[in-house]
Amino acid sequence: MKTAEYKETLDQYYVHVYNRFPIVLEKGNGVYVTDTDGKEYLDFAAGIAVFALGYNDPEYNAALTDQIGRIIHTSNLYYNIPAAEAAKKLVESCGMSKAFFTNSGTEAIEGAIKAARKYAWNKGIKDSEIIAMKDSFHGRSVGALSVTGNEHYQEAFRPLMGGVKFADFNDLESIKACISEKTCAILMETVQGEGGIFPADPAFLKEVRALCDEKDILLILDEIQCGMGRTGDLWAFDGYGVKPDIMTCAKALGCGVPVGAFVLNEKTAASSLAPGDHGTTYGGNPLACAAVSAVFDIFKERDIVGHVKELTPYLEQRLDELAAKHPCVAARRGRGFMQGLALEGKPVGEVIAAARERGLLVISAGNNVLRLVPPLVIEKEDIDQMTEILDLCL
Ligand SMILES: *Cc1c(COP(=O)(O)O)cnc(C)c1O
Repeated sequence: MKTAEYKETLDQYYVHVYNRFPIVLEKGNGVYVTDTDGKEYLDFAAGIAVFALGYNDPEYNAALTDQIGRIIHTSNLYYNIPAAEAAKKLVESCGMSKAFFTNSGTEAIEGAIKAARKYAWNKGIKDSEIIAMKDSFHGRSVGALSVTGNEHYQEAFRPLMGGVKFADFNDLESIKACISEKTCAILMETVQGEGGIFPADPAFLKEVRALCDEKDILLILDEIQCGMGRTGDLWAFDGYGVKPDIMTCAKALGCGVPVGAFVLNEKTAASSLAPGDHGTTYGGNPLACAAVSAVFDIFKERDIVGHVKELTPYLEQRLDELAAKHPCVAARRGRGFMQGLALEGKPVGEVIAAARERGLLVISAGNNVLRLVPPLVIEKEDIDQMTEILDLCL
């Protein structure tokens, strides 16, 4: 088949919910992907913040291939080896207590919501409430959509899950105004991704933590996009000196294998989900967990997080140069390798298309923001190449 035929086939047989870019990606190597016409792209999208290690990493591939040759699924009626290894590494990486593996970020959010509600229920609170943030994104299932602060995504699917109030991100007073006797959790992304790359204000996050402690409300931090080293700390909250009661992760957790997780701290693990409360057929299966386990090993061996921390000032400097030079860049925002250029007077779609023509993949976020979430293994040369191409496109 040729490129046009692949596109036509997918358009004919797949539900039209994505307006896809007009290329068919066939393979990837390092920080480059290649389409079916043989064109190469420097990838600053990384499958939406997924491919932290880049494509086709030999050690990662070997770990998966080895697991495929053993067993890829067991169900959770039995123990399996990779789940034990991956759960231990994940829990120890964030100093929390217990993990549960899911198949996606959305499902991690669902589990976090259920754990928080059960925690409240055990305290005698019925019909508990969750405070979520405006302009947030937590997924597309009915539960996750209900806590996603974006009317546009929600309106056609009402009635959604009840008991959700929306506060302004980075505004403590707005959160306080939402609190009631029934509040079981405050949910937010440590760095808002889809909403347009808005990092939490350090003072705000500390105050929210203190508020949660004072009222025994659970703080749920969604690290699905900003976690796994992206901000230059393994978990974005590490960089804030704040710990959540429940953490969700996915995207780079499996570096391409569909896997997510929610992680509970000791207090929450001790009094929330119990046998029979939650489950999944695929979640935590040996293939997905072999990926997670390998990712944690490789992160440690190669000090991936240290690399992000080291290169962040350079990335920020190059982006700041673009912002200074091009009046259409109103602001640069972000932490680590999760950066956004807020554009004004120039549609982000045009810049994305022009970049693609010139061999660079970038994506958008929120309201006309150019989003850069490259593989965490990019080097200075890749940053230079990205800057050169964006300079021409802006
Ligand atoms: C991507 C994302 C999700 C949803 O994850 P899926 O794997 O697409 O279900 C949830 N929260 C945040 C912050 C995300 O970036």
